[in-house]
Amino acid sequence: MTTTTPARKIHLLGSASYRDEAEAMLAAPGDAVLVERGLLRSLILCCPDGCGETLVVNLDPRAGKAWRLYQRRGAISVYPSVWRDGGCESHFIVWKDRILWCGVFNEGNEEPDYDPAIEPLVLDALPADRFVDPATIAQQLDLIVWDAGKALRRLVAHGEAREGVGSFKGTFERLP
Ligand SMILES: [Zn+2]
Repeated sequence: MTTTTPARKIHLLGSASYRDEAEAMLAAPGDAVLVERGLLRSLILCCPDGCGETLVVNLDPRAGKAWRLYQRRGAISVYPSVWRDGGCESHFIVWKDRILWCGVFNEGNEEPDYDPAIEPLVLDALPADRFVDPATIAQQLDLIVWDAGKALRRLVAHGEAREGVGSFKGTFERLP
């Protein structure tokens, strides 16, 4: 762990054909470059905690476990969270260009703009007889998973949905 201030935003600098080329473009923590050859291959990041390492987020399901990238209104989101197992152990969410830290640094987290108009749509899509996860709802409504998750948590707070417990934690159903 370093003593530098962690990045709070992603700066997408552009795209490159190969990882080395992408890595050479990175200058500051939070800088990011997409690697694209025909298809999206990966997102290369200068680790936002300032440790100086390069993180490779695989976006190609043919190459193994893949993250989902959303590009909406010029901002990127990545699902699920990015978690570095070794080294600095950075763990964070990328949501509309914001970096939300999990655990360490999370006191400074600032969520991106959010439109509560999606909540009635999320409620409509939510079954009342079984628990579903935010990714399922997001896919159905073409939402960023983090937005769907926030809508679901707000619906719970408003008494319109409930979250499961135990092995159903993180999944939701509509209340009658
Ligand atoms: Zn790091």
